Amino acid sequence: MSLYDRFLGLFSKDLAMDLGTANTLIYVRNQGIVLDEPSIVAIDSRTGQPIAVGRQAKQMYGRTPSSIKAIRPMKDGVIADFDVTKKMITYFIDKVCKHRSLLNPRLMVCIPSGITQVEKRAVIDSAKQAGARKVLLIEEPMAAAVGANLPVEGEAGCLIVDIGGGTTEAAIISSSSIAYQESLRVAGDGMDEDIMKFIRREHNLVIGPYEAESVKIKIGSVISMKESMTAIARGKDLVSGIPKAIQVNDDEVRKALEESVKAIVDIIDRALSRTSAEFAADIFERGVMLTGGGALLRGLDVHISQQLSRITSNGTDLKVFVTRDPLKSVVLGAGKVLDNFKLMKKICIS
Ligand code: ADP
Ligand code: MG
Repeated sequence: MSLYDRFLGLFSKDLAMDLGTANTLIYVRNQGIVLDEPSIVAIDSRTGQPIAVGRQAKQMYGRTPSSIKAIRPMKDGVIADFDVTKKMITYFIDKVCKHRSLLNPRLMVCIPSGITQVEKRAVIDSAKQAGARKVLLIEEPMAAAVGANLPVEGEAGCLIVDIGGGTTEAAIISSSSIAYQESLRVAGDGMDEDIMKFIRREHNLVIGPYEAESVKIKIGSVISMKESMTAIARGKDLVSGIPKAIQVNDDEVRKALEESVKAIVDIIDRALSRTSAEFAADIFERGVMLTGGGALLRGLDVHISQQLSRITSNGTDLKVFVTRDPLKSVVLGAGKVLDNFKLMKKICIS
């Protein structure tokens, strides 16, 4: 960072942005999290112009005339639509920097670790065009690990698993860098689809993705719960098309989610078996850290521990933890890095 940049930094805001597939969060230095909205843009397909962004766009989803399209530009963990992404970033930055007439902010953006050079370039260009003076990139698993207070600078390996909307990422971090990573397109969105398919098959009811998500959040679980839970799912009858509501229970939802959950267990199993014996030993000693909204699924930590302790069989239980605030770990970690210049120099890609 040049002296000039540091000088500007005294007067402008520093922002950290978690550009997630499901949610975008912005942290402002000395202020904390100031924005937390769905990564959705509603576009008028006749003009190509965005008519709503974030929460407002999510409310329009499925309720809009055919000329309006709701787009999730980051859906699969990559920028599917540069133009819309740029519009979304611009809108969010404008929202948190209402008076950025004098000096533009320095912006740290969290990116998936498997992203290509071209995609990195696109993120930087979008952020610059959206008004950022300087753009820094940090890999999401690194930000999440810092947010979870894991000792990222130490040599011992830490395994962090971020279960987001579009992707699940498993990463082993050691000596301030990512030693291993795998990204999988099975996460929260896939679970919603699982529930939609299950209800369609078992109850002849067609429900929307947000209805499925709400069932998942209300009663979704991975292991049997002490008390049975139920939720109402509203949709349209598959045959007659008439609006209908049915009751589903936690048992059914558990069944619906089985395969996605297995894929998440498997990605952790692979991380443990493909990494060095030393890292595996570190992880068995310390445990696995789960984060991202998907980590909130009831009993997921216990289930992963049960599955993988058995597979590895030498009697050691694999401890599995969930970060304190899984939906916020990434942005909070990035915010911490903004405040720590030495750490920033070590782990950010500029
Ligand atoms: P991203 O980083 O990809 O934007 P997030 O970490 O914000 O993703 O997580 C969003 C995902 O978490 C969504 O699929 C959402 O349905 C899911 N989610 C949020 N809360 C819960 C919950 N209580 N139980 C299960 N899944 C949840
Ligand atoms: Mg995320």
